Amino acid sequence: MSWILALLILAAGATALAYLRSPGWGWVAGGIAAGLALQFGGLLGPVAATLGWLVFIALAVVLNVTVLRRKLLSNPILAIYRRIAPSISQTEREALEAGTVWWEGELFAGNPDWNRLLAFPAPALSAEEQAFLAGPVEELCALVDDWRITHELHDLPPEAWSYIRENGFLGMIIPKHYGGLGFSALGHSEVVMKLSSRCNAAAVTVMVPNSLGPAELLLHYGTDEQKDHYLPRLARGEEIPCFALTGPEAGSDAGAMPDLGIVCRGSFEGRDDVLGMRVNWDKRYITLGPVATLLGLAFQVRDPEHLLGDKEDLGITLALIPTDTPGVSIGRRHFPLNAAFQNGPNWGKDVFIPIEQVIGGRERIGQGWRMLMESLAAGRSISLPAQSVAAAKLSARTTGAYARVRTQFNVAIGRFEGVEEALARIGGSTYLMDAARVMTAGAVDLGEKPSVPSAIVKYHLTEGMRTVINDAMDVHGGKGICLGPNNYLGRAYQLVPIAITVEGANILTRCLIIFGQGAIRCHPYVLTEINAANDADRERGARAFDLALWGHVRFFAANVTRALVLGITGGLPVKAPAGRETKRYYEQLTRFSTALALLSDAAMLVLGGELKRREKLSARLGDVLSELYLCSAALKRFEDQGRLAEDLPLLEFALYGAFFKIQVALNGVLANFPGKVIPRLLRLLVFPKGLTLTAPSDHMGHEVARILIAPGAARDRLTTGIYVPAGEEDVVGKLEVALTTVVAAEAIRDQLRADPQKRALASGGWATIAAAARVHAALPERELETLELAARLTREVIAVDDFPQDFGMRPTAEG
Ligand SMILES: Cc1cc2nc3c(=O)[nH]c(=O)nc-3n(C[C@H](O)[C@H](O)[C@H](O)COP(=O)(O)OP(=O)(O)OC[C@H]3O[C@@H](n4cnc5c(N)ncnc54)[C@H](O)[C@@H]3O)c2cc1C
Repeated sequence: MSWILALLILAAGATALAYLRSPGWGWVAGGIAAGLALQFGGLLGPVAATLGWLVFIALAVVLNVTVLRRKLLSNPILAIYRRIAPSISQTEREALEAGTVWWEGELFAGNPDWNRLLAFPAPALSAEEQAFLAGPVEELCALVDDWRITHELHDLPPEAWSYIRENGFLGMIIPKHYGGLGFSALGHSEVVMKLSSRCNAAAVTVMVPNSLGPAELLLHYGTDEQKDHYLPRLARGEEIPCFALTGPEAGSDAGAMPDLGIVCRGSFEGRDDVLGMRVNWDKRYITLGPVATLLGLAFQVRDPEHLLGDKEDLGITLALIPTDTPGVSIGRRHFPLNAAFQNGPNWGKDVFIPIEQVIGGRERIGQGWRMLMESLAAGRSISLPAQSVAAAKLSARTTGAYARVRTQFNVAIGRFEGVEEALARIGGSTYLMDAARVMTAGAVDLGEKPSVPSAIVKYHLTEGMRTVINDAMDVHGGKGICLGPNNYLGRAYQLVPIAITVEGANILTRCLIIFGQGAIRCHPYVLTEINAANDADRERGARAFDLALWGHVRFFAANVTRALVLGITGGLPVKAPAGRETKRYYEQLTRFSTALALLSDAAMLVLGGELKRREKLSARLGDVLSELYLCSAALKRFEDQGRLAEDLPLLEFALYGAFFKIQVALNGVLANFPGKVIPRLLRLLVFPKGLTLTAPSDHMGHEVARILIAPGAARDRLTTGIYVPAGEEDVVGKLEVALTTVVAAEAIRDQLRADPQKRALASGGWATIAAAARVHAALPERELETLELAARLTREVIAVDDFPQDFGMRPTAEG
């Protein structure tokens, strides 16, 4: 045996052991086999062999005998780790520990078990939820006129407010035994989505009481008395709740709020000497604040007189304060980008509240941040994702139809390649976004509190909405820009920045939360290592650290080899679920999942606590995690819906786009990784064949655009669940009729064109063709009527609104 061959065999053996994350005995067995082969293959002389065996035995003993390993290796490393590990504040710890780790944990660990993903039950609505969507939600949608609400009333009309309150919309998350609807997360999401596709003010009014606010907090932490008192009142709409966290000084850094409650004794409702707190606060941007009857409030609590115990600073606390409590001021209204939902500031001056008004009572004082973080996962998984998908679906449906109906240069604009590009982005993003919405709501229904996925869907679905609406606006040209009752896009376009800003402003969510929380929450070893290093019981901590550390080392070694092997083979060794069309996608995703695990470890190792401040790096790593999550959702949707060939172009376009983004993000991490040698080595492992992925092809985009511009099952599935009014009365309904009519008219025109004697009649717009065909009696009456209808509907759907010179604002002679 030659040395070259021997080294090759050794490298292959070590790679196989690392790839398979072999336990210690596997390495020992492998080492013995290698040693014997080298010795008896004649490559090692007696002295070298003896020395080699001694080193090998020493290493094997130290690494495999726990007492020795801990004493000689793990404990000294732990001592260094304790010195350099990033410090974690109490609020950060509470945020980190909030919620559960779900599918994203697999994606982060580098080797996702795809069969586990596909085995999660396909999220489905109950019969009751379906009936509610077909009944009250449909009726509410028909009741609200978005233009009147946003332009004239700047509020919902009284009949819509009553309908919402009386039909249980404000109590969707409240269980039935408290009088609520007790809907699943998916049911809740579908209601918000449908309402959002019709009227944002109605959707937000329904969203807020069902999201992070008094009801959600009471359900999880309220005392029995609080639940019995408030939940039925909230469910019946007798209380309008809001939740006030943000203030002028504390926005994204809400934990730094200056609002303060001082524990004291005071008088309350005729009783003296009541234990409570005197609270002062100044909040702004509070949705439903101007009309709220029940204010959920977050503030710091101090106990200088030690009425509750030894501690003075008790921390963030949440309380319920009726807005008619003396000292509470509800301010005027903010005007957020023409939105008509209620939003405004409020403040309190020396408001005395008894301890019983703290959510969860006395024992929950100081636990407010943890309560907020835990509850955020559910709400953030539902409301804004549903709202964003509604905008995307409405854009997809209307833009596809408009692009078919609107012609320029005698061609439907949706057939121009430039417009196809925009349509393809709209279709692919909508598919991906809806898949993520449904999968994440499904996770909540499985009992998860998916804190990292909730941040992923909050960020990526609101950003998805932004790009989809921008594309939709471009395709609509002036029709999207001129506001009025005939514009179904302009208001959604205006409202995008609100969704981007609330529930964790997007820049912060991308840079700090997704990877920051994901890296520690989802990593199989990091949180255990941190907890072990901080364990007050040092012996227990050292034991746990030793196990986590060596698990981590094996994990890292596995990812090094897996990244290289999967990079060279394009993920071929991956065990992908069956299905020829999708196998490649699972393989690629596993490859990227391994690359993420490798680069995350490398970044944490090289940068340590500094990684928190290197937001651009952690944002890119978060992008990779996010795209992996979104792609998983798209694949799961495809499988759950029965692998429909018609939907394949949407899936393909979405996945190719996401893969390309992953490549850009990984390349960005490597290009900006500190140092020279390490990033080069990492690049070799992650991209051994270079940057080989391309963006979705023009042909793929063409296939997606074709789905959007014609009536069909794939288009219906893509946009299912939004409000599409039947008939011509409403502009969106009329656009639908126009689309089917124009498609029929095109077929008639094609017939004319195919007939050499009638070909001359088939040029010009619908009105011209219809007139010429009628004069020459070239078509049966029904077909002539179709052409005339196409002419009328096209004219009507491309029309925009106009207004008097003063927009009707100047008072008239009658006043
Ligand atoms: C219409 C509307 C409704 C709202 N409803 C409510 C409500 O009902 N209840 C409530 O309590 N609050 C509500 N809010 C407040 C909302 O949650 C805050 O606006 C949000 O937290 C951001 O705070 P800010 O506007 O003060 O922005 P700032 O905190 O000043 O942030 C400005 C920018 O800096 C970025 N940024 C901040 N820190 C970092 C960082 N470390 N790294 C990277 N980027 C960073 C942010 O991402 C943002 O882009 C609402 C706001 C609006 C506009």
